[in-house]
Amino acid sequence: MSDSKSGTGAGSARFGIDLGGTKIEGVALGPGDVELSRHRRPTPRDDYPQTITTIAAIIAALEADTGLRGSIGIGMPGSLSPRTRLVQNANSTWLNGRPFDRDLEARLARPVRLANDANCFALSEAADGAAAGARTVFGVILGTGCGGGLVHNGGIVDGPRGIGGEWGHNPLPWAGAGEHPGPACWCGRAGCMETWVSGPGLAADHARATGESLTVEEIARRAGLQNMAAQDTLERHASRLARGLAAMVNAFDPDVIVLGGGLSQLPHLYVQLPALMAPHIFADRAEVVIRPPRWGDASGARGAARLWD
Ligand SMILES: [Zn+2]
Repeated sequence: MSDSKSGTGAGSARFGIDLGGTKIEGVALGPGDVELSRHRRPTPRDDYPQTITTIAAIIAALEADTGLRGSIGIGMPGSLSPRTRLVQNANSTWLNGRPFDRDLEARLARPVRLANDANCFALSEAADGAAAGARTVFGVILGTGCGGGLVHNGGIVDGPRGIGGEWGHNPLPWAGAGEHPGPACWCGRAGCMETWVSGPGLAADHARATGESLTVEEIARRAGLQNMAAQDTLERHASRLARGLAAMVNAFDPDVIVLGGGLSQLPHLYVQLPALMAPHIFADRAEVVIRPPRWGDASGARGAARLWD
């Protein structure tokens, strides 16, 4: 991205909101992308009006802290359909079918730019994060869902359907025994990448294999203590993630892949994924660059603020 801040049109601050499945985070970026303020609140699940109200409250808090009326960018699950201007594909399903941009603009009394949360993550990490300077960046969110965003030459790759980089509802490629048709997905399909490689997908896989319902954190902790069942679960998960990512590398050959979301904190992924992916990559140069995020959880909100760059 350039350093140009033209187009903010709203003073010297840019506000970014990251609307997640469990929390809504807001950040105010000042000149030079200095973080001026940050606020976080729980996501009012299954409550669309309260979601709007919570975002408005965070914006009000950012304005109170900074004394500035900033531009507003929102990173959200799913996207606005370019055809209907209604939300599609959000795993926070209470947003789907809603005129989210118009409702926010009415409440906040200014123009609002929205983009998919994984696109905002990829934009932030490509601009001044783990993939700064790379030409093509695939940003992957592995959290309550599985998202993806593609940035090329500093800009989000979007398209006529608004789904550029979305890979979470592709089927698991090179499926082996016991992997087809795969778990049912909220989207109506079965065996989507999200059902395997998201946090809930990993936990559900462990439960199917062992009968134990554990959090991802607990599974990772037990694996670190040489618990065989937990190690097997992480091994299956890494294999599936590697296959899914390899198929995306074959599609658009990114310079850098940056992992985000809660599962990006699993250190073994950065060690294991390149070798697990290599056999599936259709090139004589099969190594891939996979990095943890520079900004971590903050990247979603920072990237949303950058929608006004
Ligand atoms: Zn799906």
